[in-house]
Amino acid sequence: MAQQDEVFKKIVSHAKEYGFVFQSSEIYDGLSAVYDYGQNGVELKNNIKRYWWDAMTLLHDNIVGIDSAIFMHPTIWKASGHVDAFNDPLIDNKDSKKRYRADVLIEEAIAKIEEKIEKEVAKAKKRFGESFDEALFRETNPRVCEHKAKRDALHQRFSDAMNANDLNELRQIIIDEEIVCPISGTRNWTEVRQFNLMFSTEMGSTADGAMKVYLRPETAQGIFVNYLNVQKTGRMRLPFGIAQIGKAFRNEIVARQFIFRMREFEQMEMQFFVRPGEELKWFQTWKEWRLKWHKALGLGDEKYRYHDHEKLAHYANAATDIEFQMPFGFKEVEGIHSRTNFDLSQHEKYSGKNIKYFDPELKENYVPYVIETSIGVDRMFLSVLCSSYEEQQLEGGDTRVVLHLPAALAPVKCAVLPLVKKDGLPDKAREIVNDLKFDFATHYDEKDSIGKRYRRQDAIGTPYCITVDHQTLEDNTVTLRHRDTMEQTRVSVDDLHKLIHDSVSLNSLLRKLA
Ligand code: ATP
Repeated sequence: MAQQDEVFKKIVSHAKEYGFVFQSSEIYDGLSAVYDYGQNGVELKNNIKRYWWDAMTLLHDNIVGIDSAIFMHPTIWKASGHVDAFNDPLIDNKDSKKRYRADVLIEEAIAKIEEKIEKEVAKAKKRFGESFDEALFRETNPRVCEHKAKRDALHQRFSDAMNANDLNELRQIIIDEEIVCPISGTRNWTEVRQFNLMFSTEMGSTADGAMKVYLRPETAQGIFVNYLNVQKTGRMRLPFGIAQIGKAFRNEIVARQFIFRMREFEQMEMQFFVRPGEELKWFQTWKEWRLKWHKALGLGDEKYRYHDHEKLAHYANAATDIEFQMPFGFKEVEGIHSRTNFDLSQHEKYSGKNIKYFDPELKENYVPYVIETSIGVDRMFLSVLCSSYEEQQLEGGDTRVVLHLPAALAPVKCAVLPLVKKDGLPDKAREIVNDLKFDFATHYDEKDSIGKRYRRQDAIGTPYCITVDHQTLEDNTVTLRHRDTMEQTRVSVDDLHKLIHDSVSLNSLLRKLA
């Protein structure tokens, strides 16, 4: 774990050094859990959004997009349940004065027991070698069984407490499990209290009666309250979906792990409206489609897993997370939820307006059921960054840091580098840039040795470097260097466009999903 922490620290500083992510308001010592994206970060982020948007709206003729406002009528958040129930259970350590999420402390204790099980298995694997029967060992080894029984009992107690919203019991679990504050090392805990995660502000001047409004904690409600507008004006028939990308805000208390948990972040959400009774079939379909979207990036199939929810929100009848293996463990990147007709029915109730759908085939009016797919842009960004980062030892004792970004997501697709700053090579290189720049994000760089320039491009994940040398002036060929293999091939300038296009276009990624 310690080694993984080291790697993660390096990724965070790499993200800053190469213009991907900066701490917000850094010259004022920063604003906690808020981040800015730099010149390379914004391009990577835009490419992720484009990949998602096109996969939703181009590949499905029954999905359209919208862009709703961040401010919405406050009653929307009453109807959705956020005013009353969008809470985290918090507990303070009286010695360190640090605040924690009680549920996270308990989840970490469960994870520790799981680590013990995995350690036993790894040890036995080493001891028995080839003949090791892992399944049998997990079933029968007394120490593993003991840990498993402890984990299951704790898990059961925890989910009962969460389901019953029993804050005293959550505290009691923390006491009984002898969970200590990581800072002070003591068990001197306060009571557990509920804390609402929504940010609020006031609209209008106080003189004419200001209204309390919220910064939206999710983009989904903007879709729900517009579903009938879109259905009618777009002449949509069920099943159909509405996609949206936009900022969301949550006053997260345990803000850690860089851009994994932020107070201002971005979501890509799609609500898919279906006939009642068909929701579980669609839930299954979307679960598979979304995992395929992730895997098409080629970050490694083994890095994903589903986490089906045992504890369902009161309005959901199925839910799963797609988790990604971050340096700090498997973590949720996307949630897929079967939200029944809860949200739309609530809006019907609170607004007093009829928002039923008329089904022309069944000749019936009803409130559609909804499957939601909800992914955080920033968490997706982090998963791409972490799995792409590599420190490589090269032959001859040299090292390089390379980002093996999926080519379609890379901020810069190719860099054109004149070998020397004279003899007309810069002019020729500029000429190539001026041709390629209409189709690809292209960099020109003439500073420092060619080796240093290659390293700079490797560090931001540029798939191709094009080197212009004296031979270029004679036969119009250049060397094309591949980021991952560092292999260099001599190609004609006339072929560059096609060669680059085939591997960096979003199109080739989208085709994998068809
Ligand atoms: P968590 O359990 O990690 O708090 P959540 O289950 O509350 O997440 P959802 O409400 O399902 O998250 O939001 C959908 C997606 O939005 C998440 O899968 C995640 O990618 C992203 N997301 C949620 N909260 C944050 C945050 N504070 N910072 C960055 N991304 C977030």
